[in-house]
Amino acid sequence: MHTPMPGQQPGPYRRTAVWGRGPGPGAGVGSAARGFRSRLRLGRRGLAIGVDIGGTKVAAGVVDAEGRILSQAKRSTPGSDPRAVEQVIVELVEELGRGHRIWSVGIGAAGWMDLDGSTVLFSPHLAWRNEPLRANLQRLLRRPVLLTNDADAAGWAEWRFGAGIGENRLVCITLGTGIGGAMVIDGRLERGRFGVAGEFGHQIIMPGGHRCECGNRGCWEQYASGNALGREARELAAANSPVAQELLKAVDGNVESITGVIVTERAKAGDATSRELLEDVGEWLGLGLANLAAALDPGTFVIGGGLCDAGELLVAPARKAFARNLTGRGFRPAAEIQLAALGPNAGLIGAADLSRVSSRMHS
Ligand SMILES: [Zn+2]
Repeated sequence: MHTPMPGQQPGPYRRTAVWGRGPGPGAGVGSAARGFRSRLRLGRRGLAIGVDIGGTKVAAGVVDAEGRILSQAKRSTPGSDPRAVEQVIVELVEELGRGHRIWSVGIGAAGWMDLDGSTVLFSPHLAWRNEPLRANLQRLLRRPVLLTNDADAAGWAEWRFGAGIGENRLVCITLGTGIGGAMVIDGRLERGRFGVAGEFGHQIIMPGGHRCECGNRGCWEQYASGNALGREARELAAANSPVAQELLKAVDGNVESITGVIVTERAKAGDATSRELLEDVGEWLGLGLANLAAALDPGTFVIGGGLCDAGELLVAPARKAFARNLTGRGFRPAAEIQLAALGPNAGLIGAADLSRVSSRMHS
């Protein structure tokens, strides 16, 4: 469990969360927050459904006000057609809603949502471009609906119920195929002026480096993600290096089948080369976190996402590289780096909770 650093008491606005506001007077404090707090208290018993839309599957769950999942269901992602995805969401909500009184529905997906959570501006895996998804779904579901970026949802969940409890300046990094980011500051999800803050994975960490799907070269997520781990391992195996023997054995000699997941499995089983590869990724992770600390000065970084299965094999070298690269090291307090606590359901839990919190804000 996270322990606040000296002088960093848990924020006074712990439960006065405000969704989606840019910096503005009174955001998260004052009478609006007090009114909100009373509404949140009234709604404690309310249940919400969180829906996590991934590239291959749509996962949904009924989540209570303490972040517990009461029931869950899954479907395959039905291609990229917006109407088909809406239909799957409706089916899941109807299935899970039987036997529960559902207050609201939160939808988490990769991509950019507008600041008030009503429109998908862009989603990389789905054909949503300026899609007014919230209005469509509210009509179909007859409940308040909120759209949220999946990394924001996961970060929110970790702050509310996981490794970031009590931290009033939290940065959450989700390591999967790419890198997602979220900031929770004084009990408020910080989403920037236009709703698209937190794209930390695209900080350029190696000018002229590996090409990124965002169009640039040398982005952090090309060095510190699950995909980066797989790419490095394949490159090593393709060079016919004897040190890659165990990795090659794990995929029957088929270099292209080596993924970050396989490297992580081999590393946990003790393969020295896989551990080295994870250590390299951990060092890139720590370097990027040091950059973020210079800009944002959080009290805690929570590291989540699939790559976190590697645990300390990833985070220990990250902590070391972070300490080595931190601006003004030795003359400033340093943020803690913690592993996420909620696992793969963080996005679903956070989307549900944000929808409940937000619907009470605006009701
Ligand atoms: Zn990029």
